[in-house]
Amino acid sequence: MSMQNSSFSPMPADSGGAPVCRRCGTCCLLGGPTLMLSDAALLVSGTLTLEALVCLRAGEWARDDARKALRPLEGERIKIAGPGGRVHPWRCRYYRESAGCGIYEQRPAQCTALFCMDTGPLEMLLAKASHLGRYAALNALANGIPGFSTLSAASRALLPDLVSAHEEQVSVRAVLELADRLGFFPQQAQGLTVERCAEQGPLEGSEREAAVAELGEAARLDAAFRDLCVERAGVPRAMLPFLFGRSVKDLLAEVGLKPVSGG
Ligand code: SF4
Ligand code: SF4
Repeated sequence: MSMQNSSFSPMPADSGGAPVCRRCGTCCLLGGPTLMLSDAALLVSGTLTLEALVCLRAGEWARDDARKALRPLEGERIKIAGPGGRVHPWRCRYYRESAGCGIYEQRPAQCTALFCMDTGPLEMLLAKASHLGRYAALNALANGIPGFSTLSAASRALLPDLVSAHEEQVSVRAVLELADRLGFFPQQAQGLTVERCAEQGPLEGSEREAAVAELGEAARLDAAFRDLCVERAGVPRAMLPFLFGRSVKDLLAEVGLKPVSGG
């Protein structure tokens, strides 16, 4: 992970010849980290704000570098959100061109552990520590959410229930499994094996039509739920990716399924 400044000079090796991090920023451009439990302190201090985060929900397609595969996530992850687009869609938002990491002294645990030429420390962290989830994050922020001081205590207390209600109503795993059975799954895995999620076979005929309708309904429900949270519960729209992850519409578009009209 990167910290660059005017006095920085590349350092391919230390005096003993051992490889060291050159702080080139390549890993920051490829994607920010997911957060570990210990990173909750960075939320409380306001180093990381909820606006900067997105929840990757269980069932979403994600890289599993240990298995060299793209496969559905078993549990949720909180990740520093990227800007999207074609070039570096997951580029860390704290990375500054020519200045490096904007939060280097308080960077998340995975950033501290990561070194591209020796993945041992990161692997050890992932094996021994727990990932931060939405409930633990919200629990840590029960007394106030930096960056959202206007959110009332009542609205704040409601957030874990809203997360639960959304999980019950909109299952990402079910949505993406259905899309998989329709033949829509990641096609470009950049050298990784795609571990398909659908245990049952492809859908045909009327079952296929019913599945398409079901996915449309899931996308509609997801969008309506988010709007309701903003309009009725006073949830800031900027907080929605952290609370509910990316929209079903976006997740389906990512595997090639787009609505035929604006619906
Ligand atoms: S870990 Fe590797 S990719 Fe990341 S900044 Fe250091 S040298 Fe560059
Ligand atoms: S937090 Fe800093 S070190 Fe970590 S990915 Fe972002 S820019 Fe890189």
